[in-house]
Amino acid sequence: MEKLNCTVLVVGGGPAGATACRELNRLGINNILLEKDLSFSKPCGGGLMLSAYSEFNIPKSLIKKEVKSIKIVSPKLNKALVDISKYPLTIVNRCEFDAKLRDLAKEGGTEVIEAKAYNIKMEKTPIVLAKSKEKKFEITAKYIIASDGVKSTIRKKLLNQTPSRILTYYSDIKDIKIDSCQFWFGDNISPKHYSWIFPHHNGINIGLASNNKKKIGVYFKNFLNKSGLKLTDKVKGYYIPYWEKGIFFEKNVFFVGDSASMVLPFTYEGIYYAMKSSSLAVKAIAEDDPSLYQKEWERLYLKKFKFLKTVQKLFLRNDYFSEKLVKLYQNPSFQRAVIGYWLGTKAPSSKFGAFWKFLKVILK
Ligand SMILES: Cc1cc2nc3c(=O)[nH]c(=O)nc-3n(C[C@H](O)[C@H](O)[C@H](O)COP(=O)(O)OP(=O)(O)OC[C@H]3O[C@@H](n4cnc5c(N)ncnc54)[C@H](O)[C@@H]3O)c2cc1C
Repeated sequence: MEKLNCTVLVVGGGPAGATACRELNRLGINNILLEKDLSFSKPCGGGLMLSAYSEFNIPKSLIKKEVKSIKIVSPKLNKALVDISKYPLTIVNRCEFDAKLRDLAKEGGTEVIEAKAYNIKMEKTPIVLAKSKEKKFEITAKYIIASDGVKSTIRKKLLNQTPSRILTYYSDIKDIKIDSCQFWFGDNISPKHYSWIFPHHNGINIGLASNNKKKIGVYFKNFLNKSGLKLTDKVKGYYIPYWEKGIFFEKNVFFVGDSASMVLPFTYEGIYYAMKSSSLAVKAIAEDDPSLYQKEWERLYLKKFKFLKTVQKLFLRNDYFSEKLVKLYQNPSFQRAVIGYWLGTKAPSSKFGAFWKFLKVILK
């Protein structure tokens, strides 16, 4: 058993964990990163907004594709095309992306250990128990950052709970090229959620989310039929967090990214919010005031998360409402308001106003 000590132990080396380490290094705070599998490729569409690269100092060489439009397809196959050429969405290869962020953390001073955290115990400060192929570790830290994803061991062992989550089915299809990210709605393909077709680093990625585990396979088949696509690879399943209310800091442990369910409702973007939540948690550590993390996250995102949850509940409740949503998207000023809201370039109040105005018109 190797005993180690550090100021901050980061458990999980995805975008949340690697970003936490990079931010800690920048502030001169000593840290260790535990990652259970350094060759892990997170199941993910890999969509990340371009502005994130400058915000988190991420090399643009990681970008595999830039997407300049979003296509929205209604249950009756009506379409809306949203131009995002001014604010492209980038596509990354998650295996390469996560590895690069961890390498940058290591270059900045992080000690990276390939080992799985299997328990946490509380003494004066938390102690994490981990094991690699060769040995066991006992790591004592002033603070833990739990960035160990949707199946978070730290959350399970410390609080006896797992993040709320829904199941996704997805597959990569090689040798097909598309230019836009497509979102498809419909009760027979992904009731209350959406199905997607995204450009991928190697072809396209298709998938859907559902909380009906018994029927998700049928929905996937229906989606293949509807889109006319043929599989070239296996269909896989993985969970995605379903945000209900935040969990931030408990017993000297900060929860960030998927382990805190910080995935934007409706769109299911999680990479950006994983990195952002980590940088906010590190800021709170630097100020030695853990409560700052929740305060700052809520100031920045609570309205947005609640708003998108409402939009999802309202418009994805059935085919009738999804049809109305696509009709709304065909309106250029609605598109502008939504893009401004998505990017955070317009104040929430004005966007709420625009939204309710449009809603009144469309539901008349
Ligand atoms: C099918 C699918 C498609 C998606 N598409 C998109 C998309 O296009 N854009 C987007 O923004 N988001 C997308 N998401 C969501 C996104 O993938 C996640 O929100 C994001 O990866 C969260 O980052 P994270 O660092 O919090 O967690 P993760 O990326 O899950 O990283 C957790 C890390 O912790 C490690 N780990 C786990 N347990 C332990 C342990 N006990 N000890 C040590 N290490 C551990 C794991 O190996 C992993 O490296 C998608 C999700 C799914 C399932």
